[in-house]
Amino acid sequence: MTPDRLDRFARHIVLPEVGAMGQARLVQSHVVLVGMGGIGSPALQYLAGAGVGRLTLIDDDVVEASNLQRQTIYTQADIGKPKAEAAAAWLAAFDPALAVTAHVTRITRDNAAELIAGADVVLDGSDNFATRLAVSDACVKAGVPLTSAALGRFQGQVANFAGHRPDHACYRCFVGDAFDAEDCDTCADQGVLGAMVGMVGAFGAMAAMRVLLEGVSTLGDPQWGQLHILDGLKSSLRTMRIAKDTECSGCISDV
Ligand SMILES: [Zn+2]
Repeated sequence: MTPDRLDRFARHIVLPEVGAMGQARLVQSHVVLVGMGGIGSPALQYLAGAGVGRLTLIDDDVVEASNLQRQTIYTQADIGKPKAEAAAAWLAAFDPALAVTAHVTRITRDNAAELIAGADVVLDGSDNFATRLAVSDACVKAGVPLTSAALGRFQGQVANFAGHRPDHACYRCFVGDAFDAEDCDTCADQGVLGAMVGMVGAFGAMAAMRVLLEGVSTLGDPQWGQLHILDGLKSSLRTMRIAKDTECSGCISDV
């Protein structure tokens, strides 16, 4: 790293839990972000701030005025623009040293393998189960870890999955097969608090960093299959363990 990059990441490097080796790993890493909304926005900011060297952004939506209440990377001037492109523009201004690829497309069962290729981790902050299951199945097949971050009103859920490994659950082990159809309770119907979704996005960014740093520095404990549940009303956090489903069609019966 050049002196200006060392200076930029000095506060990470000085942390024993990250260190110079950890920072070097982050710089060499590739994160795919699915969904550039309320979770993807703050997650992108912290991952980019951490110097993650390659970022792939996937979203087929455009920025709307009602997004600005929580989707922190967009401004008034972005209304009407594709989110993936506006996010890439934010990133280019924030740190031109980072490589970014923007896909203005919906990730589906058909294109997921191609879109996540080469990722060290996929961070899914999308807003529906059908997308999440397609992403999870593609991650298992490709052997790519998945950070899942989701929000329902005041409850956030964040977990790292390594379903491609024999002893670890995948996202489908967690939610089952019932959600393959579109069925999401959208933010428009239920409402969402900006700071709450920001907390979940930042938690997701940190979970993804744990994956990237596995085997490199002590922060690199991915806590596979541990679902962290944030309650924004009580302001509490609890954790439950997700077991591998021995009948799972995502990570078991794929023979
Ligand atoms: Zn599974």
